[in-house]
Amino acid sequence: VADRAVVEVRGLTKAYRRRGSPPLVAVDRVDLTVRRGEVYGFLGPNGAGKTTTLRMLLGLVRPTGGTASVLGNAPGSRAALEATGAMIEGPAFLPYLSGTANLRVVARYAGVDASRVAPALESVGLAERGDDRYASYSLGMKQRLGVAAALLKDPVLVVLDEPTNGLDPAGMREMRTLVRGLAGRGHTVVLSSHLLGEVQEICDRVAVIDHGRVVLESSVEEMRGGSELVVRATPSD
Ligand code: ATP
Repeated sequence: VADRAVVEVRGLTKAYRRRGSPPLVAVDRVDLTVRRGEVYGFLGPNGAGKTTTLRMLLGLVRPTGGTASVLGNAPGSRAALEATGAMIEGPAFLPYLSGTANLRVVARYAGVDASRVAPALESVGLAERGDDRYASYSLGMKQRLGVAAALLKDPVLVVLDEPTNGLDPAGMREMRTLVRGLAGRGHTVVLSSHLLGEVQEICDRVAVIDHGRVVLESSVEEMRGGSELVVRATPSD
């Protein structure tokens, strides 16, 4: 079905057990739908539950309640994994290998043909720096190599956890342009951010998440209309 949702989340919950205290509810009955071709943002402060939600979408964390699916498949299932690329942890590349060589290693582990490496580098603007050592890359280039790794299997869904975190203004600009370009090339993107201005710039729709709950879901157009609620529900930076 052409307009089937890429991601569907219903009542998704994660409670972490804590010795001697009540469980910590990191994600609390989240409902959302991400449509094909959208850039969908989770906006919220540190500890709001963004990373835990993304990890559940990827099958890396098992929910304690509710369901999530990727193109109708359970997270972590073969079909879901084949449809998804992610950059969720800090990049783990080998410093003395080139960008190209690093991606070849990732491709090999992922069972992706090495012919995918060049187009992935190209699509993050690193084609000309592919032969340079990873250690010589700026942080922005390192993060973009992380996105290239996520693109190796040409996934329907690209999941990016705080892709601009720690970048300087130029690096942020490049990453934001890159993310918009992914949607332009038919990928669906789910990302997290703690910057209101950033999600307004690059996302189509945003879920504001606070203490594990989606306190507001809105198209960015509606947000630009200047809802008081959005301003109060987001961090001051
Ligand atoms: P950040 O931007 O800091 O990653 P976040 O919005 O992604 O924040 P999460 O990392 O999802 O938030 O964390 C949500 C809550 O769950 C936090 O209170 C965190 O301490 C807690 N938490 C996360 N992972 C675990 C874990 N493995 N065990 C126990 N508590 C956890």
